[in-house]
Amino acid sequence: MPAALPLIDSHCHLDAPEFAADRSAVIARARAAGVVAQVIPAIRAADWPALAELCAGEAGLHAAYGLHPLYLAEHVDTQLQELRECLAAGGAVAVGECGLDFFVEGLDPSLQRHFFRGQLALALEFDLPVIVHARRAVEEVIHTLRDYPGLRGVVHSYSGSEEQARQLCRQGFLLGIGGPVSYSRAHRLRRVVAEMPLEHLLLESDAPDQPLAAQRGERNEPASIAAVLDEIAALRPESRETIAAATTANARRLFNLSADAAAAPDRASSSSAPAAG
Ligand code: ZN
Repeated sequence: MPAALPLIDSHCHLDAPEFAADRSAVIARARAAGVVAQVIPAIRAADWPALAELCAGEAGLHAAYGLHPLYLAEHVDTQLQELRECLAAGGAVAVGECGLDFFVEGLDPSLQRHFFRGQLALALEFDLPVIVHARRAVEEVIHTLRDYPGLRGVVHSYSGSEEQARQLCRQGFLLGIGGPVSYSRAHRLRRVVAEMPLEHLLLESDAPDQPLAAQRGERNEPASIAAVLDEIAALRPESRETIAAATTANARRLFNLSADAAAAPDRASSSSAPAAG
């Protein structure tokens, strides 16, 4: 077995109830697989306090705060102001998860746009990257991002075309690559992963969702990004080591994570310092 390379899971929902019973064991398995840090994007305002507590108490866990479009029914307009206050308090490495979902029916598109744009504006205001959810909405996301020049971020679980990927890269955005790259019908995604500049790729698990094909139907875990790395390495000319180093550096750069993000004593003793420091 090859030595574990330091990897960063740029997107996982470790605060989800699916991990309530065995969260420490899940984190331990991730660390054993070389996953030195995870970015945990919130999905609704009610979860922000518990997420902050989780990340303050565990080295290598980094919070992003946002309002996910799938939970539109729970969002109220005043939460954008609450999000501003939450971001002002420090500690966030990104704004999100936010975005547009035109796949799931019954989510008012104009209300989705309202919350998405509100969060993009906050990301610019606080000079934070944004974590974008775009399902059947990549084209509109590209157009929307144009209204926020200087904004940086990641389109997580990227599902668009090669041309759209190139456009996002030109706009300074990265692409989150996870379990779906292993699906047998993911020809377009594999082409994107093979062709994009390495500087624009991030590893992500989206745990507990989006397991690799071999684990379909099971709960996904952050440790699985080592297998995502294998899938990417099979598609590209660079070595597994080079891809690991590049994607880890990309995540550190985007989220402003220090290189010793996993050094437990450091972070544990400086819980008052903003993680994005
Ligand atoms: Zn997510």
